[in-house]
Amino acid sequence: MDLAALRACLACPVCARTLQNPTTLPCGHTVCQTHQISPCPLPHCAPPPRPARPRIPPASRVNYLPPPPAPLAPPPEHTPKPDVTINKVLALLDSVLGEDSSYDDDDDDILRSAPRSPTVRTRPDSPGPSRPRKRQRIHDDPSDDEGDLLSHLMSAAARQRDTAPHVSLTDRMRPLPPPPSLEKELQTELACEICFMLLYSPVTTPCQHTFCSKCLHRALDHSNLCPLCRDSLPGFSFFDDHPGNQTLETLLATAFPAEYTARGAAIAAEERDARLDTPIFVCMLIFPGHPTALHFFEPRYRLMLRRCLEQDVPSFGMIMPARTGAGAGVTAQTADYGTMLEVRSVQMLADGRSMVETWSTYRFRILERGTLDGYTVGRIERIDDVPDSPSLTLAGPSNEELMETCTAFLHQLRRGTAPWVVQRLNNVYGAPPADPAAFAYWVALILPIDEFEKAKLLPIRSARLRLRLVVHWIEQLNNNWWFTSGCVIF
Ligand SMILES: [Zn+2]
Ligand SMILES: [Zn+2]
Ligand SMILES: [Zn+2]
Ligand SMILES: [Zn+2]
Repeated sequence: MDLAALRACLACPVCARTLQNPTTLPCGHTVCQTHQISPCPLPHCAPPPRPARPRIPPASRVNYLPPPPAPLAPPPEHTPKPDVTINKVLALLDSVLGEDSSYDDDDDDILRSAPRSPTVRTRPDSPGPSRPRKRQRIHDDPSDDEGDLLSHLMSAAARQRDTAPHVSLTDRMRPLPPPPSLEKELQTELACEICFMLLYSPVTTPCQHTFCSKCLHRALDHSNLCPLCRDSLPGFSFFDDHPGNQTLETLLATAFPAEYTARGAAIAAEERDARLDTPIFVCMLIFPGHPTALHFFEPRYRLMLRRCLEQDVPSFGMIMPARTGAGAGVTAQTADYGTMLEVRSVQMLADGRSMVETWSTYRFRILERGTLDGYTVGRIERIDDVPDSPSLTLAGPSNEELMETCTAFLHQLRRGTAPWVVQRLNNVYGAPPADPAAFAYWVALILPIDEFEKAKLLPIRSARLRLRLVVHWIEQLNNNWWFTSGCVIF
């Protein structure tokens, strides 16, 4: 770990000195509090925003409508808060380097603002205060100039330190190597308070707390309060493509380059793994071939949807919640059957909720299920119809006759006295499908029977058997319907 390089990372981009009481602005720049901070004092400040989540792949056909524009950044406080993480890192470096006596005297201003690294030498031709001072590491080519020769000697002295600890003559020239604990302590200070791992893509909130960008998004799924200080945070959309903390990002990449790269790779792998299993939304019974509008508000499903949207064809499975209490055993089997929903359009709301339009595509059976970040995932097998055997086709009424029975019953319902049935009919999209394979689903949507009973259609691989089951329900309703109606009317 190169202390000089660390120190360089902590230079203020405005005054080029070590940051003093740093505060991080919504643009991601960290500057000393003494500078004007609103707007950002850096000329032409235009940091690249972080790509908004979810990252919709180019091949995706989803109509994704991002959240409405974020509200303006909250007005700066009279005394801006200090950036908590950077302050801690500065304090840590100060504690390591503060007592060292080997500073040179040509930069008193820097000495005043913060202790300097003894391994840093400032070149005589160092640039003006408009940009960070160029610093020279002691390990650079020793033949470069006199300063570097000195650096070389200091380095050599450092190597001898362990074997000759009492050579006082060289004490002043001795560079202070980072104590073994510094790396560990720095890693602790640069850990995210949500995942407890090294910060990755750090984002600093207006309350000056820093989290991994992904962790902050997941925290915002649950609450608009800062996970650390409980300060109110601007809404979800404010952080959607929020620029990262540039100082911390540079510091992380400088201090822990291998670890930082590994973190990025691990996060990408985690995202990939999350897409290997089929996400399952446990909500309601849906049959194939129908549009469904859904409101995503639960934190776990918000995350699930974001992950879905990063696929070329975003889709997830939908199953009914398992029935509890009486009859639970009977429906346990059908609880493993569901329908895939393809996401067609998403309207994100400013607070992270979303309205989602889907189209149900095919049925599936869950072979194995697990949980990922709070939602169900599964290994599934697609269920398709198989051709009916001749004996099944010839037995009983034909498909057309079964469909006519259904249609007649629906007309009977329309003529009946139950307005809610008519309402239910009106809510069903489109005309009855001509295809017997889809017809039974369409009728079942309308029938006033238990949803768990209707779910028995999902595992059936024969259109004809589905029709028969629906006609069976109609017969049962016919047997009980008029009796029930009679009770109501008379
Ligand atoms: Zn400054
Ligand atoms: Zn800026
Ligand atoms: Zn984190
Ligand atoms: Zn906070």
